[in-house]
Amino acid sequence: MGADDWSALAGVSSTLLALAAVVIALLAFRSEHQRARFEGARSLHHDLTTGEVAAARKIVGSLHYGDFGPTSTPLDVSQALTSYFTVLWCFERIEAGRTALARGVIRGPRTDSALDYLDTLVAWHVTEYACGFAVARRKLAEASAQEISDSDSASGFRRLTLALQKRGLVDRAYRQGTCPGAECPCACHHQSQP
Ligand SMILES: [Zn+2]
Ligand SMILES: [Zn+2]
Repeated sequence: MGADDWSALAGVSSTLLALAAVVIALLAFRSEHQRARFEGARSLHHDLTTGEVAAARKIVGSLHYGDFGPTSTPLDVSQALTSYFTVLWCFERIEAGRTALARGVIRGPRTDSALDYLDTLVAWHVTEYACGFAVARRKLAEASAQEISDSDSASGFRRLTLALQKRGLVDRAYRQGTCPGAECPCACHHQSQP
């Protein structure tokens, strides 16, 4: 080969090396990007299952499944209202985080492993509260003799329920934030009467 050939070969080699460096940098970026996405999903679920939200869930859960009234368990309306909105706002944060995750998918369908991970983790919680919020809202309204104004706070939960229903992770028999009554699959409607 002549000098020109060697020079051309060196040029090709350096171009290939530069391309390889770009590919390695892109792979590293994607790996770090995905790691951060999983960490985001994990912290959203952590928010739902620990601390003040976990404590609030116990109270909303007892509202959902319990029996309250003048002749049964007395209800601390103020504490129950605070708990109701604490859990509702946690789902609002999860929905906002999920929307950000969906927008952050680098390429391909608008779902990926981090989004799958989050959806799988929160699906049964959303199922629980699809009826739970509705029943708790009704009991709180009865106990406080006034409507619970939560339409803005509940919009995130409704969007999250719909998104998971579209993915087949939450039963479509549930409505977004309301209880469909007789058709509701929630266990609270099928408890044996004493
Ligand atoms: Zn129900
Ligand atoms: Zn229920």
